[in-house]
Amino acid sequence: MSIVIKNLNKIYPDGHHALKNVNLNIPSGMFGLLGPNGAGKSTLMRILVAQMEATSGEIEMYGYNMLKDRKAVRSILGYLPQDFRFFAQYKTWEFLDYAARLSGMTQTSRRRDAVDKMLESVGLYEVRNRYANKLSGGMKRRLGIAQALIHDPKVIVVDEPTTGLDPEERIRFRNLLSKVSGQDTTIILSTHIVGDISSTCNHMALLNKGEVSFYGSPQDMLVRATGKVWRVMVKDEDFVQFTNKYPVVATIPHEGEWELQVIADQIEGYDAEAYTPNLEHAYVYFMESQLDNWTND
Ligand code: ADP
Repeated sequence: MSIVIKNLNKIYPDGHHALKNVNLNIPSGMFGLLGPNGAGKSTLMRILVAQMEATSGEIEMYGYNMLKDRKAVRSILGYLPQDFRFFAQYKTWEFLDYAARLSGMTQTSRRRDAVDKMLESVGLYEVRNRYANKLSGGMKRRLGIAQALIHDPKVIVVDEPTTGLDPEERIRFRNLLSKVSGQDTTIILSTHIVGDISSTCNHMALLNKGEVSFYGSPQDMLVRATGKVWRVMVKDEDFVQFTNKYPVVATIPHEGEWELQVIADQIEGYDAEAYTPNLEHAYVYFMESQLDNWTND
C-alpha cells in the first residue's frame, strides 16, 4: 500500500468532529475520495499534505511516517488546492520555474530543462511567455497540475479538480492527470462529482459526515447497490404519500401517473421493477443514511 491511514480523527478547536476514526489503505494509481460538501474531504486532504495536524491517528506514506518524517513526506508530495492561485506578475514559465525552485531544484540548467519538459507535457509550451493570469480557465488548471508535478512527486493530492470547468475541459483534465503522473505514483482526487470518479479511479472511498461509508472499487459500489434501485409507476393521487415514504431520485411524468426511480431495500404495496443501478444511484444509496427510517416508516 502506498498510503496507510489509521484511526484518524480531527476535532476542530470549536469542537466540531470533522473526521471520525478514518481508516484507509490507498494503493498506487488514481484514488477517488467522494462525498458531499461538508463531508470532511478538504480536512483529510489538508492533513495528507501536511498543512494541518490530525487530532489523533497515524499516516504512513511510501514508508514514511507523517509525523516523524515530515520533511521526507513533504518532498514526495504534490498538491493542487481547490483555490489554486498564482502571482499576476509571473509569466507561465516563470511561475513554473518559481515552483521548481520552491521544491528544492537549485541548479538552474536542470530546472529550466524540467520546466520546458513539463510545459510540453501539459500542453502549455506555446503559451509559456503569456502572463499566467491571462491563461484560459482550462490552461490555468493545467498550470496547476504542472506546478504540483514539477518535482516528480510520489503522491499527488488534487482537491475538487474540476470545479468551474466545462464538461469537455473536465475530461481533458482527468486524462491529463492520469497521463502525466509517473509509475508507482498515487493520485488522490477529492470531488463531490460522481462522474469524476467513475471514469478514472480504480479505487475509491465515500466520506459522509466525517466517516468512511464505503471503500472499494466503483464496480463494488455498483454491486452493493444492485437490487436497491426500483422503477415504480405511481398514480397522481398516491404521489405525495409515496414520495414521503421513499427516497426518489428521478421523476418522469406520464398521463395520470408518474414513473419514479427509487432507492430502497424494498418497496411495499406498489408494483416495483428492479432497475440496474449506475454510480449516481449507488452514491445516493450509500449517502442515504436514513434509509432505514424511510423504509420503516
Ligand atoms: P468538504 O471538503 O468535504 O466540503 P470540509 O473538510 O471542508 O468538508 O469540512 C468538514 C466539516 O468541518 C464541515 O462541517 C466544516 O464546516 C467543518 N470545518 C471545516 N473547517 C473548519 C474549521 N477551521 N473550524 C471548524 N469547523 C471546520
